[in-house]
Amino acid sequence: MKEKVLVSACLCRKKCRYDGKVLDAKFKESIGKFYRIIPVCPEQSGNLPTPRKKSFITDSKNGRDVLIGRAKVVNEEGKDVTKNFIKGAKTALELALKHKIKKAFLKSRSPSCGEKGVTSALLKKSGIKIEWVD
Ligand code: SF4
Repeated sequence: MKEKVLVSACLCRKKCRYDGKVLDAKFKESIGKFYRIIPVCPEQSGNLPTPRKKSFITDSKNGRDVLIGRAKVVNEEGKDVTKNFIKGAKTALELALKHKIKKAFLKSRSPSCGEKGVTSALLKKSGIKIEWVD
């Protein structure tokens, strides 16, 4: 039986990116041979719409700082969306635990899924190995 892995939904050609674009990613086909893919979009799971305003972690901090309350996530209009990002990260972790997932392939350069993102911080803290995909 193939190992289950968590994968950023936008890498699976789901329409969930902030700009509403669908990535022309071949990733799903290439890793689908080896793994059973469980897609997740933490920002949609955190009740943010698609498309949506671009968001940033404040003060050049990272997802870990957001989880411990030392930074916020705000969108380009200045709206605080920290709660949405934390909710989305928790949903991704719940999904990983439910499926006994030990590994995730996440989209790089995202305030949720990226190397310094909120979801990445929570999954890492829980011992899940992450590979980031450009
Ligand atoms: Fe959703 Fe993550 Fe892709 Fe952003 S990078 S669209 S949060 S799956």
